[in-house]
Amino acid sequence: MLFNLSKLCNKSIMKLSVNEKIDLNKINAFDEEIIFNSPVDFKGTFVNKDEYIEFNGEVSCNLKLICSKCLETFDETFEVKIDEKFSRSEQEECFELPSNCEIDLGRIIEENIVSYLPIQRRCSESCKGLCPICGMNLNLHICDCNPIVEEEEEKLDPRFTKLQDFFNKN
Ligand SMILES: [Zn+2]
Ligand SMILES: [Zn+2]
Repeated sequence: MLFNLSKLCNKSIMKLSVNEKIDLNKINAFDEEIIFNSPVDFKGTFVNKDEYIEFNGEVSCNLKLICSKCLETFDETFEVKIDEKFSRSEQEECFELPSNCEIDLGRIIEENIVSYLPIQRRCSESCKGLCPICGMNLNLHICDCNPIVEEEEEKLDPRFTKLQDFFNKN
């Protein structure tokens, strides 16, 4: 999505506030395709600071993500702060401003969202993930593998198990 900043560039205005809903395509991150559930809310202010045009604002988006633990999809809303600079001359930490003063706003928003997303994406704090043995989703079912308990039983001394049986019976 191209956004024209020419009024700011030629200084007919020094400040431009935006508050828009923007349709974005799906983005690629973490070898996954991430889908936007709805248009993003984009708001903030562009200011001409002479050496560059500065933007401060934020974007709110609702994404369809895949849980890193149980691999189920889930929806989550993110509020992402966006602070960027745009300049015609080459400057550090600035996006290049083309001669027609059109910036690719969609790409800038997408880049900010991707760098904001956590590496581990969880459907919930308490997600139990998949069973490492049978692959069952442990949030939905309880399987019989119970790998942790099995390990503990193996470590128990058989004599101790007999003693435990004795106490359990009495
Ligand atoms: Zn999960
Ligand atoms: Zn299992």
